[in-house]
Parts: sequence; C-alpha cells; structure tokens
Amino acid sequence: MKKRLLIVGGGTAGWLTAMFVRKMFPEAEVTVIEDKNSKVIGVGESTVPAILDVFNFIDIPIEELIKNCGATIKNSIKFTNWNGDGDSYYHGFDVPGKSISLYNFSKASPYSFKDIDTDCDKSFLFLNQLHKGKNLNEVDFPSKLSMDYKIPLVFDQKKKINSNNKIEHFNQCCYYALHFNGQIVSKYLRSFSHERNISIVNGLVIDCDLDQNKNIKSVLLEDNRRIDCDFIFDCTGFSRFFIDKIYKSEFKSYKKYLPIKRAIPFYLDNKKRIPPYTEAISMKNGWMWKIPVEERFGCGYAFDSDYCTDEECYEEICKFLNFEPEFKSPISFEPGYYKKVWNNNVLSLGLSSGFIEPLEATSIWVTVMSLTMLTKYIAGIVDLNSNIINEYNIDFEKKTDSILNIVYFHYLNKRKDTPFWKEFREKNQHPESIVEILETFKYRTPFKSDKMFYDSFAIESWLIVAAGNKYFSNDVIENEFLTYNVRENIINNVNHHKENLRKVSGMCVEHDSFIKYMRG
Ligand SMILES: Cc1cc2nc3c(=O)[nH]c(=O)nc-3n(C[C@H](O)[C@H](O)[C@H](O)COP(=O)(O)OP(=O)(O)OC[C@H]3O[C@@H](n4cnc5c(N)ncnc54)[C@H](O)[C@@H]3O)c2cc1C
Repeated sequence: MKKRLLIVGGGTAGWLTAMFVRKMFPEAEVTVIEDKNSKVIGVGESTVPAILDVFNFIDIPIEELIKNCGATIKNSIKFTNWNGDGDSYYHGFDVPGKSISLYNFSKASPYSFKDIDTDCDKSFLFLNQLHKGKNLNEVDFPSKLSMDYKIPLVFDQKKKINSNNKIEHFNQCCYYALHFNGQIVSKYLRSFSHERNISIVNGLVIDCDLDQNKNIKSVLLEDNRRIDCDFIFDCTGFSRFFIDKIYKSEFKSYKKYLPIKRAIPFYLDNKKRIPPYTEAISMKNGWMWKIPVEERFGCGYAFDSDYCTDEECYEEICKFLNFEPEFKSPISFEPGYYKKVWNNNVLSLGLSSGFIEPLEATSIWVTVMSLTMLTKYIAGIVDLNSNIINEYNIDFEKKTDSILNIVYFHYLNKRKDTPFWKEFREKNQHPESIVEILETFKYRTPFKSDKMFYDSFAIESWLIVAAGNKYFSNDVIENEFLTYNVRENIINNVNHHKENLRKVSGMCVEHDSFIKYMRG
C-alpha cells in the first residue's frame, strides 16, 4: 500500500504507532510530526502482557528495553489497604494453558466433582479460600511469584547454548508485562526512525484542509509548512487535536461512575530489591501508584479533587512516606473515551482517544489493543471502508466499557474511614454494563462460562478483585460451599496445590538476578 501515513504526536502512543504501521505497511511513507518543545507523558508506566506481542511484532527485543530504557518485569499489581485493614492482594496475569490456574479442574483434578466429567465450571479453590475469609494470594501462581520477588521464567542451560537472544535462555511459565517510563521508551523507539525509514518533522499542527468527504488532505504547521497525507494517526495526547478540535467527536464521559480526576506524579529512590509488581496503595481520597523503573519508583497520587487540595495530598503523602518527595506538575483529566475514535481518515490512539484513570494500567494496553485491532479492520485504512470503520468504533467502545467495569469494581470495597470512601457508592453511579454482574453477584459467585464480562478482563481477574475486596456476602459463600460440597471435593488437594506453587516458584528466576543478567 503506497499511502502517506502521518502520525501526529511523538509520545509513547505516537512512536508505537509509527513502528507498528511501518511494519504493517512496508511500502507506505511514514512520517511522525512532533513538537520538540512540548513534553511527553512519562510518569512510570505499568503495562500488560499484550505490549510484549507488539514489541515482538516491531522487532524490539525485551533485552534492549531492559538495557536501554530501565524497563523491569511486572507479574501483577499489588493492591494494598483497599479494605482499610492494611491487608493486600495481588492481581496477576494469566497462566498459559491454565496449568496452575484457579480453574485447574479436569476429571482428575482436585477442583471438580470427583471422577465425573462435569459442566460445573466453578472454582472450588476460590470458594474454599473465601470460606476461610482469605483472599487468593496463597493459591494463585502470579501472587506467589510476586511475594517471592520472582518472575515466571526458568533458566535453561541448553537454551543458553543455542541462542544469543538472552530472553530465549528461559522457559516461560506465566504471562508477564513490563514497567517503564514512557518518555524514555518513546525516545528509544524514535532512535530507530532512520533505520526503519520513518521521517520526522519537527512542528506543531495548527490547522488542516478537508476534502468534500471530510477527509483530511493536508495539515498546516505553525511555521506555515503544509504536509500532504492520505491517513492520520492522531496521537496528540490530552490536546486531542483532530478528534476533538477538528471532528468534534462525542466524548463518552465516565465521570458519573469514576470520580478520580487529578494526579500528582513524583519519584522515589529504590535502593532495595526491585519488586516484580506495581503497587496500588489506597489513600484517603484515591490511591497511590508505585512503579519500579530503573533504580527508582515512578509514583503518583491519583485522587478526587472535590475532596482535597494538592497541598493536602502532599501532606498526606509526606506523612505516609515519612519523607518529602518532590511533586511534579499535577495532571487533570476527565475519565472517559470518545464514542468514535476513528473519524474519516483519522484514527485516534493513546490519550487522544481517551483515558479512564491509571488504576489497572489500561492506557497503553488500549493503545496496543487499538493497533492490533487494525490488523483485523485493515480495510478502514486501505480504502476508508465506512462499514469497517463503524465496526472498529463499536468494538472499541465495548472494550473500553468493559475495562471501565473492572476499574469501577475495585472501588466497591469495605473502606469507609474517609468521606471519599464512605460516599463512593452514594455519589457515583454504577456503569450500565456492570449492573448485570453486580445483580448476579448478589446471589452467586461467577461461573467461568458467564458471558457478562466481555473479553477485556478474564473471569480470574473478577474473582481475584472480588476476593481481595471481600465482595461476596457470607451467605452466598456459605451456601455455595455447602451446595458444591467444596470441603469433600478438594480434600487433601489444597496443600498439594500450594506445594506445586512453591516448587514452580522455586525454579523461577529472581527479578533482580534476571535484570542483572539482561543488562550484563
Ligand atoms: C497520571 C497518569 C498515570 C498513568 N499511568 C499509566 C500506567 O500505569 N500504565 C499505562 O499504560 N498508562 C498510564 N498512563 C497513560 C500513559 O502515560 C499514556 O497512555 C502514554 O504515555 C501515551 O501517551 P500519548 O502518547 O498518547 O500522549 P503524550 O505523551 O501526551 O504525547 C502526545 C504528544 O503529542 C504532542 N502534540 C499535541 N498536539 C500536537 C499538535 N497539534 N501537533 C504536534 N504535536 C502535538 C504533545 O506535545 C505530546 O508530545 C498514565 C497517564 C497519566 C496521566
């Protein structure tokens, strides 16, 4: 396809997009317009495993990201104090093939009715932990790894002999993702522009020319240069130049559901071991993220500014850390996504398409999802097929709505000690698409075959958050525990399962050693 593809905005979304479309359309002209004087967001970014598929697709090895960008490995997110009781739970990534998952129940397995091929796809292990009043830390593999400061890779001497690619010296037993700083990664990706035949134009887009079909033919830069194009990727971050200013696309605000609207980033030094997880610590008026990048943590307080000022947040953080960090400029945002992220010959990606809030690290994931969706809806770019563009927009909206659901679900916890937490349920509506889930949870725990979760977060995620938040009533748990005869069905097997987790974790490499090995 010999088209002129223009990427406007040189942040993480812009550079990931440039590399992705370069690979997807080897014959196209690919140009990035970036404004040298403006900043890129880089607050310490926590990602999801799908980012590795994209780095793989664009031929950027993980080893290089660890060496050159200070990236670290992420198994999970540790949620600390979300019930106000000081307790914490881990929300980790899936296990391929579900070999050690919560749903490990074939005929021979401990988590099913003994010796019967059954349709009951309920996790007895999950019910057993809930019945004991526990979260799933003890029985979940990524949680176990995270607590042990391990990552799901097992060194294999034979593989070392056969490959120069260091990541291939390991066998992988669970999905994982990366932590990095977006500013550093976008700079690193930019360094490949010459070798990948991606042109860079320095400038700020201030206007554009539309044809009679409302497709953009060219953009005008601040210094009066005009650049012709066939297709634009709007990666202009929160300034949302094309989607908002040119197309005035409808914004689907999530503010009636989610009240977090301001965040203040800061850094903390880390002289200790590097945790293989992001930490999300519940605070008086929101929560604090703590992401291990390079030799420090990228941190920030995400909060509801209706309840407190920046100064009050600062005081709370200083008291909590017993230390006075240097706060960076605050960032305000309205949670939500645009209903139509693809308008004519312009597709918005990254923060220009929307942003929910940092919880569960879904923003770069949505960018990655948007890019991979392109491979399916490619006709939207090749011949601007409006039916395909429409389908893309509908698919995108369903995905972002389903992400909203699980982010919202984290706030349905037991914390009640401040007005923010006490009033959360009264002040904020349920998202429409979570209602069925919450109605069901009133009388039963989920089945794996439930269709109401859509596809963004697996059922395991809902189980882990529900267990962490102590969401289910004692009656529901007690009933199911008895109905499914859980005690009998898993007898003697929980210890066996835990022993298995211990063994596998014992074989996995320590996060610190792995980072040293990759950098060395
Ligand atoms: C508080 C906070 C915490 C976050 N935490 C996470 C996390 O843990 N995990 C995660 O996945 N994501 C997180 N994100 C989101 C993540 O940072 C972004 O998804 C990612 O950095 C991509 O940003 P971007 O490239 O869309 O925007 P930006 O980094 O803002 O880049 C946009 C660029 O476009 C330029 N631009 C704008 N208008 C024009 C114009 N007219 N002409 C030319 N250039 C223009 C801007 O100057 C800027 O350089 C967080 C975001 C925030 C705000």
